[in-house]
Amino acid sequence: MISPRIESILAELGIATALVAARSLPECAEACELELAETGEDGREHRLTPEAAAAWKAMKAAALEDGVVLQVVSAFRSIDRQAEIVRRKLAAGKTIEEVLCVSAPPGFSEHHSGRAVDVGTPGSPVLEIEFERTAAFAWLESRAGEFGFRLSYPRDNRCGYQYEPWHWCYHPA
Ligand SMILES: [Zn+2]
Repeated sequence: MISPRIESILAELGIATALVAARSLPECAEACELELAETGEDGREHRLTPEAAAAWKAMKAAALEDGVVLQVVSAFRSIDRQAEIVRRKLAAGKTIEEVLCVSAPPGFSEHHSGRAVDVGTPGSPVLEIEFERTAAFAWLESRAGEFGFRLSYPRDNRCGYQYEPWHWCYHPA
């Protein structure tokens, strides 16, 4: 069951609900409570739920002790913001299939939950597969679990997203 609000956003964007159902994507509610997890060098404020923000800060500090710098590239994102991203890509001439391979349909992004973080590290381009060759990724692979973070979209994930070595989501124990 897709909520009426999401259904109308999908309809407006021309996304068939069958397309979403076929990938068995879970609908993801927007976080109610958010706090500042990190301010980027560009001054952008990245928000997460209080629990996820605390876990992120602890993980970032532990990584730093090992000489690894973890940065937030993107954290909480509203459903409206996700709709805007999809709308802009469609306006730029991409097909809905192309868009949905890299972007979640509005209402289905883990970033709505305030628990997902796109991670970056200095010297590596953001949101690129190359991230998997960084020391930051190697560190996350071995240690992120201790802090409750898991890689959401490994290669050949069942959600039908491209491989996203940078996207980690906090799952409360
Ligand atoms: Zn992400």
